[in-house]
Amino acid sequence: MSEQKFMPLKENRVKQLLKERGVTVDDIAELVYFLQKSYHPDLKIKECKENVEAVLEKREVQNAVLTGIQLDVLAEKGLLDEPLQTMIKMDEGLYGVDEILAFSIVNVYGSIGFTNYGYIDKVKPGILKKLNDKRNGDVNTFLDDIVGAIAAAASSRLAHRSVGAE
Ligand code: MG
Repeated sequence: MSEQKFMPLKENRVKQLLKERGVTVDDIAELVYFLQKSYHPDLKIKECKENVEAVLEKREVQNAVLTGIQLDVLAEKGLLDEPLQTMIKMDEGLYGVDEILAFSIVNVYGSIGFTNYGYIDKVKPGILKKLNDKRNGDVNTFLDDIVGAIAAAASSRLAHRSVGAE
């Protein structure tokens, strides 16, 4: 088998893609702040942002973002085959693969990410509320879970580091 050179994905590409879908690093940092402020009274938004940036450098996170956004975009354009097209476009509750993809992000800094993810997915603060507003025809079936998962993973990283672990 011939060896293929694998181009590492530029982190900027992921940030750019998120931005094209209406999500900035600051939006995700605000979710981290929301999740962590009661545990860290001196928490600054800058610290939240640094942790989001670190999560976005992980290859498995980048892959999940690329895959999820691509499926949202194709569904938005009506380019998927049925029955997938309708399931993703309508964000059908029993589809569930959007959440499974997000799980690959949630646990990059350990299992406490799951608690954060479950909570934020239920409360849907800030940008998550916006992404769940389906009135404008945008398809964010994968994106809302991905954004919540990035915030949950960044919160885990922040929590681990504040007790001295890497
Ligand atoms: Mg979803």
